[in-house]
Amino acid sequence: MKCPQCKSDINVSVFKYTVPYYGNILIFSGSCPVCNYIYRDVEQFSGAEPRRITYRVEKPSDVNALVIKSSHARIEIPELGLVAEPGAASKGYITTVEGLIVEFINALTPLCAEKSVSTANCEELLHKLEKARNGELEYTVVIYDYTGISNVLSDKAVREKLRVEEMGSY
Ligand SMILES: [Zn+2]
Repeated sequence: MKCPQCKSDINVSVFKYTVPYYGNILIFSGSCPVCNYIYRDVEQFSGAEPRRITYRVEKPSDVNALVIKSSHARIEIPELGLVAEPGAASKGYITTVEGLIVEFINALTPLCAEKSVSTANCEELLHKLEKARNGELEYTVVIYDYTGISNVLSDKAVREKLRVEEMGSY
């Protein structure tokens, strides 16, 4: 494939991975030799329907649930006012709820260092995210994925079919 940043050729490795109670998925991984862009994604063998996954974190052990996030997924945490939209540089990966929160922390930390953002608000949000990461506050993770690949592997996860209209502009 072509690097989305500099259009150089990237060699992508493909791995097959069997997730218990879920099935086989393909993991794509590669990096650009020119600009070091890291490419990661996950795909399922068979197509699935658009859906919304809702997962409630209520106690510390809830952050250990395994999350499959495709590059097409939009992630929302309404209680914290956070939305991660999918974009050209979006990545797909397998992580945990804690890992998702760490992604938000990593994305926000450089923004908070910039003077363009209100530092007080930013630091308050980072403080909440640190608590969220440890399951010390209750919140909801909502994943929208029209490819139906994303999932939270837990009995507590609620999976609902989505109509195209509900996907909005996304
Ligand atoms: Zn590149």
